[in-house]
Amino acid sequence: MKRTCSGCQQSKPFTAKHFRKANDRKSGLKGICVVCDRKYSARYRTDNREMYRKSGRKWAKSPRGIYCYLNSKGKRVPGIKKCSLEEFIEWYESQELRCVYCGTTQDELANSTDKLNASKTRLTIDQKIARQGYFPENMCLACSRCSMVKSDIFSQEETKEIATKYLVGRT
Ligand SMILES: [Zn+2]
Ligand SMILES: [Zn+2]
Repeated sequence: MKRTCSGCQQSKPFTAKHFRKANDRKSGLKGICVVCDRKYSARYRTDNREMYRKSGRKWAKSPRGIYCYLNSKGKRVPGIKKCSLEEFIEWYESQELRCVYCGTTQDELANSTDKLNASKTRLTIDQKIARQGYFPENMCLACSRCSMVKSDIFSQEETKEIATKYLVGRT
């Protein structure tokens, strides 16, 4: 007995060699041939991968995602363990998505002429006072460039001055 594959429309012997098994079918076989089935599942995987990548990006920009990321850095992010997820989300949602130093908004990062900023999809969580740790009172949102300039050398006030004088328009 031959059967026309619903995918490629080719007539093939209706056996398990040519058609994939399907326990939920009376015939015990799918209406699609093995070749097409393989092709479709490959495409399904690709589509899914794209979907996961996109949702991964969305996750990375969400307060939960950022919190998990900060936590995963472990010892390099002091204080984060003292800040609960709820506290973090509350803090994050009260923030304007804008660099506290140069004023660049999160949406502007993608079009930044600064390669470092352009490579980022979100603002970074910066410590107001370096090495004091990540807890609501000591956190702020900054672009990667300002955060890098500030590092543990400049104070918030100094960084603001540098950003206003030299970085605005370049980041
Ligand atoms: Zn086929
Ligand atoms: Zn900035």
